[in-house]
Amino acid sequence: MASSICVSCHRPAVAHCYTCHKPVCKNCAVKSGEGSFCSSACAENYAKFNARYKGEGRSSFLLKLVKLTLLLAILAGAGVFVAAKVLQIPYFVELLKKLGF
Ligand SMILES: [Zn+2]
Ligand SMILES: [Zn+2]
Repeated sequence: MASSICVSCHRPAVAHCYTCHKPVCKNCAVKSGEGSFCSSACAENYAKFNARYKGEGRSSFLLKLVKLTLLLAILAGAGVFVAAKVLQIPYFVELLKKLGF
């Protein structure tokens, strides 16, 4: 099988690179805490990808976005309130009346 021959030395492969999935043999595989890789570059890429995935994952990005949207909504609401009650800007006074304040 072509897929089970090491890409570097063409001996039978024992593992596949975690990053690029190339087959590697025992001698050529770069071992790290994460698994086996065809090169140290692939091992670094995998570590970087893992760190990014764990640290600033999609869920925390969404959470930030939700928090930011909430903050903006609160600020906008407070801004309208201040404009009407403190600054007495007619447009905002009318706006608050329409909203029932
Ligand atoms: Zn690789
Ligand atoms: Zn090899």
